[in-house]
Amino acid sequence: MLIIVKKDKDPAGLLDMLSSCGAHSNVGRAESAIIIEVLDRVDISRVKAFDCVWDIIDDNDNLCSSRAVREEDTIIKVGDVKIGGRNLCVMAGPCSIESEEHIINMALNLKEIGVDVLRAGAFKPRTCPYSFQGLGLTGLEYLKRAGKASGLPIVSEIVSERYLEHYDDVDIIQVGARNMQNYELLKELAKIKTPILLKRGVGSSIDEWIMAAEYILAGGNPNVILCERGIKTNDNHNTIDIGAISIIKERTHLPIIVDPSHASQNAKYVKAMSMASIAAGASGLIVEVHDTPQNAMSDGVQCIDLNGYRDLGDSVKRLHNLINY
Ligand code: PEP
Ligand code: MN
Repeated sequence: MLIIVKKDKDPAGLLDMLSSCGAHSNVGRAESAIIIEVLDRVDISRVKAFDCVWDIIDDNDNLCSSRAVREEDTIIKVGDVKIGGRNLCVMAGPCSIESEEHIINMALNLKEIGVDVLRAGAFKPRTCPYSFQGLGLTGLEYLKRAGKASGLPIVSEIVSERYLEHYDDVDIIQVGARNMQNYELLKELAKIKTPILLKRGVGSSIDEWIMAAEYILAGGNPNVILCERGIKTNDNHNTIDIGAISIIKERTHLPIIVDPSHASQNAKYVKAMSMASIAAGASGLIVEVHDTPQNAMSDGVQCIDLNGYRDLGDSVKRLHNLINY
């Protein structure tokens, strides 16, 4: 961070504040201004509070997620599956765990058609309290059995830190859009090493999303996967922020994948949104798939069926082979 101080102002108070925060700095004097280069992370609002400050150039270059800190892509390994960089990883499964039999059947079918990671929610943060809320911890046990039966790694959403002990043998822990800024939850997830799939909040900026990731990284868990899942449009629809994929790849070294199902909210758009995401450079997808979408206990409208997945999976792999960035 560079702080520009007006030439006729004394930066002594500002420099004291910086050193009391443990931030090292270099001071340079130009003809019309004093320039302070701050070498450590500081709370920018503390700097703004000094009226000697004329301007602040904060390129966030010292964030844990920054490309400037780590040039190469972070690749997260879950069993044999690699997530990030030039690897393609497709996570798929029903929105919710509905029964033991159903999730095991889905897992076996999805494994056969080339899915890399099995997704399904045990705790469903639904907009309407009267909608199906998920099977909770019982559902999570069914998902673990489905993972074992199929050999697929599993990803499932956590909604509160009080359930964390039950996620010990979950391969990837999902933080949903609604919890992206649940900082107490993020701080607890920072204390473990399990990969965290951090979805972007529907109204969150890219900066807010990166800062949420920073809570996990700075707290000690280096395994963060970002997931663009659509942001709200003016007409109250969701749309994928395709440009965010490039921005995240430029600014961070973290893997980025896309959820075309929640982003489009309708199965008929899911293939096109998946192709667009891979063409834009995403390292993977998380897609909702149900054997009979009309019977799904949640999000049936946006679930593709198994044939739909076969087509999508093939197309995405072929496209990914053509993309060279
Ligand atoms: C989900 O993946 O099941 C989900 C609820 O997603 P989001 O948090 O993106 O709405
Ligand atoms: Mn869903």
